[in-house]
Amino acid sequence: MGRKAVTSTRIKQLRDAQGWSAYELGCKLGCTRSYIKSLEGGSLPITHRFAMRFVALERVTYAQAARHKQIRTIHPLPKQITILARPRKCAICRAWFIFPNASDRVCADRECRRAYRTRIK
Ligand SMILES: [Zn+2]
Repeated sequence: MGRKAVTSTRIKQLRDAQGWSAYELGCKLGCTRSYIKSLEGGSLPITHRFAMRFVALERVTYAQAARHKQIRTIHPLPKQITILARPRKCAICRAWFIFPNASDRVCADRECRRAYRTRIK
């Protein structure tokens, strides 16, 4: 990813993968929407300065995407998701969850449920 030349295709790929408009990408890189469009369309050359900034943004973006791969789910997920519920720790195993009910204090694991039941009695 890093060593390869920054091409118009690569710019468009990052933008599409993240669902960013040319304006949004421009804001992140300190340039205008029309400049991004010109680079993607090939009507302007990709400068070294732009390439350096682009590669840095790409690296940060894909590092964040890699962190998202740590999400495990029992439900199918869309390509992009925004989670608004606050993750909480299971009271027993201390692993992080987004519980189906706001009042849940323990994960769905049988051992955790049993341990929690005996603890609150
Ligand atoms: Zn648990």
